Amino acid sequence: MKCGRDGNFSKGELRRFGNIELSPSAGVLNYGQGLFEGLKAYRKHDGNILLFRPEENALRMRMGAERMCMPAPTVEQFVEAVKATVLANRRWIPPNGKGSLYIRPLLMGSGAVLGLAPSPEYTFLIYVSPVGNYFKEGVAPIHLVVEHELHRATPGGTGGVKTIGNYAAVLKAQSAAKAKGFSDVLYLDCVHKKYLEEVSSCNIFVVKGNVISTPAIKGTILPGITRKSIIDVARSEGFQVEERLVAVEELLDADEVFCTGTAVVVSPVGSITYRGKRVTYVEGGFGVVAQQLYSVLTRLQMGLIDDKMNWTVDLR
Ligand code: PMP
Repeated sequence: MKCGRDGNFSKGELRRFGNIELSPSAGVLNYGQGLFEGLKAYRKHDGNILLFRPEENALRMRMGAERMCMPAPTVEQFVEAVKATVLANRRWIPPNGKGSLYIRPLLMGSGAVLGLAPSPEYTFLIYVSPVGNYFKEGVAPIHLVVEHELHRATPGGTGGVKTIGNYAAVLKAQSAAKAKGFSDVLYLDCVHKKYLEEVSSCNIFVVKGNVISTPAIKGTILPGITRKSIIDVARSEGFQVEERLVAVEELLDADEVFCTGTAVVVSPVGSITYRGKRVTYVEGGFGVVAQQLYSVLTRLQMGLIDDKMNWTVDLR
């Protein structure tokens, strides 16, 4: 789907996966005008296909588009395009419990522009791929390293939206961490260098007794849809959830730490290394709290339990 600055997107069409043509002076290539989303389609036991909260992705893309000076598809256009793309690719959706279809909607300034300005034309497209687990550890615990020099976001910047440049900003720290054997990087706020922000592609939760704490949304971390869902699931399971500033020292006496995201779902954290000191949590598997939340969320996403929250969209 394409549109000009007026934001009136043309009707979409289905095409085979392939390269797209862009002007070398396209806004996305020169000034980073790009946003993406990530969501999944699951196959139910009865063969039907379920989407998980696609309208939340549409709303997040619209919020990001406002920050990036871009027009965005309406919630209806977005969700309809996701449904049409998934149905056209239904044969790629793994059987129940064996993985899912990852859906990547992409919005970019595709028009040519030379002086710094919003692009005169925009393209919205969606591509899909079957996926299994995100981390090579599978659902085994991941190992994080706290980064205290490089930051992924600054107050007033674009850290709170899913713009492509945020991911370029994390590549250096993430590659260095992986080269040292860590699964990923945990970022701190860039003002105090003390409060937890998030991991390169997921949100973080710290468990102490019956209290589950997670960094509050304040413009520098992505408002994860899994984060929001897990907060609701945890509260309905009787946990106290606090969205607040979480100091890095709190990692020292946490009972459990876990990450959430569309790709990682709920991933237990096995250890966190901060300034050379390694704190360990679980070995080999999930902590009890992460296990409980993972179990409720995944059963909901795969249609194995009653969806009281009305979060899933059944494509039949
Ligand atoms: N933070 C970042 C930086 C991410 O890229 C993602 C993945 N979209 C998340 C958090 C988790 O968000 P969600 O639960 O919506 O996938």
